[in-house]
Amino acid sequence: MTHPILDTHEPHQLGGDREIGERLKRAGLRSTEPRRAVVAALGQGGHHSAAEVFDSVSERLTGTSLQAVYGILSALNEAGLARKIEPPGSPALYELRIGDNHHHLVCTECGLILDVPCAIGEAPCLTASETHGFAIATAEVTYHGMCPDCQAASLAA
Ligand SMILES: [Zn+2]
Ligand SMILES: [Zn+2]
Repeated sequence: MTHPILDTHEPHQLGGDREIGERLKRAGLRSTEPRRAVVAALGQGGHHSAAEVFDSVSERLTGTSLQAVYGILSALNEAGLARKIEPPGSPALYELRIGDNHHHLVCTECGLILDVPCAIGEAPCLTASETHGFAIATAEVTYHGMCPDCQAASLAA
């Protein structure tokens, strides 16, 4: 199984406000100021909850609401511009790094989330033993464990 999209390890380069607007239009969304602000906030990389995104856009968008940010995030998700992940015990998180089918390392202690590239080479567990007739496009994998900091802290305790 090969993955046609290269994993660059980098968040997608976004460019300026105008380029973000073009991206929205290509995805079939109207380019509005609130949407551009949310994309720009996600474009800084990482995984963010709606509340975090709201915090970072509320200065630029006076008068916006958390509810509005939720709406924008789900529109971006449905249009394929943002990916939504739902780690257990955490609110849904959004990220702009899409299309590379990367996976996540989640620390069960502190909630740290890191991206890992899609499994390379033979990855038998990503080939479903029973497809039930599905044409499988992606496999979502989350590795759970303790990050280095939390391991050190638990050893020290
Ligand atoms: Zn941790
Ligand atoms: Zn990610």
